Amino acid sequence: ANPLMDAIVAVCKRRGFIFQSSEIYGGYNGFFDFGPLGVELKKNIKDAWWKDMVHRREDIEGLDSSIIMSPKIWVASGHVGGFSDPMVDCKVSKMRYRADQLFYAPVIVDGEKVGYVSILEDGNMQADAEAAAEKMKRKGGHQGELAPIELKEYTEADESEWALIPSPATGEPGSLTAPREFNLMFETKVGALSDSSAVAYLRPETAQGIFANYKNVVDTGRVKIPFGIAQIGKAFRNEITPKNFIFRSREFEQMEIEYFVSPDGDWSEIHQDWIKYCHDWLISVGLPEEMLGRDVHEKLAHYAKACTDITFQFPFGEQELWGIAARGDFDLTQHAEHSGKPMEIFDETAKKKYIPHVIEPSLGVDRLLLALLTAAYTEDEVGGEKRTVMKFHPRIAPYKVAVLPLLKNKPELVGRARSIFEKLSRRYNVFWDTAGAIGKRYRRQDEAGTPWCVTIDFDTIEKDGTVTLRDRDTTEQKRISEEELYKFLDESLF
Ligand code: ATP
Repeated sequence: ANPLMDAIVAVCKRRGFIFQSSEIYGGYNGFFDFGPLGVELKKNIKDAWWKDMVHRREDIEGLDSSIIMSPKIWVASGHVGGFSDPMVDCKVSKMRYRADQLFYAPVIVDGEKVGYVSILEDGNMQADAEAAAEKMKRKGGHQGELAPIELKEYTEADESEWALIPSPATGEPGSLTAPREFNLMFETKVGALSDSSAVAYLRPETAQGIFANYKNVVDTGRVKIPFGIAQIGKAFRNEITPKNFIFRSREFEQMEIEYFVSPDGDWSEIHQDWIKYCHDWLISVGLPEEMLGRDVHEKLAHYAKACTDITFQFPFGEQELWGIAARGDFDLTQHAEHSGKPMEIFDETAKKKYIPHVIEPSLGVDRLLLALLTAAYTEDEVGGEKRTVMKFHPRIAPYKVAVLPLLKNKPELVGRARSIFEKLSRRYNVFWDTAGAIGKRYRRQDEAGTPWCVTIDFDTIEKDGTVTLRDRDTTEQKRISEEELYKFLDESLF
């Protein structure tokens, strides 16, 4: 069990951040729906990224390309031929695994090796291995003690060993099939014909839509090297083992930039600048620096020049959050060859024509959302009472402020509160709540991650017009005038 992960999943369901897709039909593995709070959170994440990457940078333009594109694009990009993961089937558990994420443990009973159990790489490997081994022991009718379980990473070299050991559950030799390549692209058919010429793919990344439109953007005449094209959109991968909630799903969203640079310049320096820029941006939306790390890839795809992942301490371990790759001119060259269209740009400063090289920062919206949920999730005690509080950065919090009339049956209070709500909701997403004791209403907003609550009471209408402003994280309350309230929120939220 992973208590933090369980708590995050529970608060997501309880408060309407995230639901399992098709839940009323028993769920559908690898797909998720975003509820009223989740959709706001997600939109705020995308808006913050778009603001900082596109609006606030003169060198980056936006794009929104179609999800289904000519299948020729995926041939040129290499996805039809090579976008696959090695897959193995476990004959005992009837489970399918991604071989490169597979660990296993030999099961030894009374000093005799009776089989293997396979475990996916996540936070619970040791416990899962022990539970699976116990089950195997019972099924196999073995008595005696289990030896200490030793987790091993699956490698091709192990295959011969697997084959020799009969599985106690099936009696067959070996319990895993040999790895085979499994293409992750979802196929569909376009148009009325149903032969192979109608086959098309749901895009497995947004990046190729950018490369396919690179010439269009260049020909509009506004860009000069170095420049970027940014896109946010859905991507689909038929992941063999979707897992860890929304971390690895089959339908997700990406925020990608292709940043085109001169082949003669120092791409490595620009790559490093991007890594730093992305790292700082994550901190600006609320991820603590100490939960971030870096993974510099040593093994690279044949065309790649360098790749660094920014990693995050998820509840199930440190994992990739944002991949920042230097891809050379591979993609544009491929598209030039396959489409027959020139992909050169004329560099006004260098007075030269060339196919630019590219730096690609690629971030998953859902993965960032899970990181932000993880960083925000806090349990503490207020006045001897336990509370759950989502400490979102105000910029991404689903609701910025809640307006609460102290009593719902006093028209003067409700009327004044309503007028403040009307003013605020023109600018921000504001929550209106009249139901229940005020302490309970505060608690509800804490769990939703609303940074501030504004309470309108009798002093507001009878004395000095001040309202109570309550801070989510410190629970501190202070009285301020309406004017001060508007000024405070404007300054805090921009
Ligand atoms: P992994 O090795 O985890 O499968 P990847 O290296 O294939 O990921 P990229 O192709 O570099 O991932 O994708 C760029 C980004 O898109 C990732 O850093 C991640 O944030 C996001 N992403 C990729 N696959 C998924 C998925 N199945 N679910 C959610 N987000 C994803």
